[in-house]
Amino acid sequence: MINNKSLAVKDKSLSDLFQEDFIGEILTAGKKSSTDSKQVTEIISKARELEGLTPEEVAVLLQVDDDKMLEKMLTVAREVKEEIYGKRLVLFAPLYFDNLCDNNCLYCGFREDNEEVERKKLTQVEIKKEVRALISKGHKRLLVLTGEKVDEDISYLLEGIKTAYETQTELGEIRRINVEVAPLSIADFRRLKEADIGTYTCFQETYHEPTYERLHPSGPKSDYFWRLEVMDRALKAGIDDYGLGALFGLYDYKFEVVSLLLHAKYLEETYGVGPHTISVPRLNSAKGAPLSEPPSPVSDFKFKKIVAILRLAVPYTGIILSTREEASLRDQLFQHGISQISAGSRTSPGGYEEARKRNSGEEQFSLHDTRPMAEIIAKLAERDYLPSFCTACYRLGRTGEDFMDLAKPGQIQKYCQPNAMFTFQEYLEDFAGDKLKEQGENCLDHHLKEIKEDHPALADRVENRLNKISQGERDLYL
Ligand code: SAM
Ligand code: SF4
Repeated sequence: MINNKSLAVKDKSLSDLFQEDFIGEILTAGKKSSTDSKQVTEIISKARELEGLTPEEVAVLLQVDDDKMLEKMLTVAREVKEEIYGKRLVLFAPLYFDNLCDNNCLYCGFREDNEEVERKKLTQVEIKKEVRALISKGHKRLLVLTGEKVDEDISYLLEGIKTAYETQTELGEIRRINVEVAPLSIADFRRLKEADIGTYTCFQETYHEPTYERLHPSGPKSDYFWRLEVMDRALKAGIDDYGLGALFGLYDYKFEVVSLLLHAKYLEETYGVGPHTISVPRLNSAKGAPLSEPPSPVSDFKFKKIVAILRLAVPYTGIILSTREEASLRDQLFQHGISQISAGSRTSPGGYEEARKRNSGEEQFSLHDTRPMAEIIAKLAERDYLPSFCTACYRLGRTGEDFMDLAKPGQIQKYCQPNAMFTFQEYLEDFAGDKLKEQGENCLDHHLKEIKEDHPALADRVENRLNKISQGERDLYL
């Protein structure tokens, strides 16, 4: 849900929205108001009502540059997160089907002109092997990615998704596949929808058109508007779970944050559905990419501010943080707004099967959190956070607008917390060593006690299912 007590974006065309003068006006007004600390505090407090913030209010918060005010924002972001999502964090793994690309994004290791990268396109057998390797680590949710080949039909992607869904092992299966591939036509989005995907994600990289043009010199991706209109086409094709994102470091972060919110607001006003997720990737160095340093660096201070602001501005939208970030920063941010993280990631096709190749020349960009998934899970449980592999909403058809309606205070928690507990219990039974199992069970006991206090009948149902899982039943959800 996007706060709509602000400028009407509906009357503007998409191309008008991200013009420098329009966003510049919003940012300048924000700068003026930010000198009044009472106003800044009021905006932060208002976010506690869980109705989101307007782009104008966000522009005020973007000006915050002192530690004390940032702390205030992080504290309220934490309250908002816990009010809506409870103490849980969804885990997923990226899976690259190929690294073939006809584009030349100056920051990416997969770009066409990079001769240092060994090109690879997984066969269906190789995809199956990768999926088995991911299942063996406990994963249930995947994000499938590819490069972009002009002459490639979408059939390869669809076949790969089918292979991944059909891969069954004694340790389970993949239950939800999200997709992040280059923008498609409406006809291809219809075919993708039929493949039972979860969320379709595409990052605009930068909303600033002149910067976009400079950084994407050739290939289909050089068309700024084809990318900008991608979600209009996806929604018209019936894909109602979509994810937005910007690659932070390419252009002024304030411009990008306001743009992301305007884009979300435009899509919600036009199609009735806000974004399911917003991702906040920060530019990392990539081997063979000319852009080795971010043109507009985003410090950790600014990055924390971005995460906190997004949590306050779009309280019901999932915020995704990848392993591009350092472990210590990730461990901090999942408490203050992040609701989904990737774990144990490899960004090269075939990278899970051949883990030893992790730092070979095939990666798309370098990763900073290289901890195995079990270590990340232990860290979460230690802090009483529930790692979740839940896929219930998508499988019960609670997507798009239905999901947003459900996303009212307490409602998601009523489903998400128990479902997170069920999937965590499965993980502990099937994948955890003794120490993690003990730690995880303590964490589950504690969460069960909490549910008992407020909802004793629900707690009975949850306890009953947890017992069934310890006795061998799988894939239980509410
Ligand atoms: N090729 C498709 C595309 O560009 O939309 C699919 C996704 S691409 C494999 C995934 C994302 O990786 C890109 O959208 C970009 O934001 C991000 N990326 C590329 N190079 C990066 C780098 N050096 N550091 C961080 N993220 C990067
Ligand atoms: Fe290709 Fe995507 Fe990398 Fe650009 S970001 S070079 S489109 S894989």
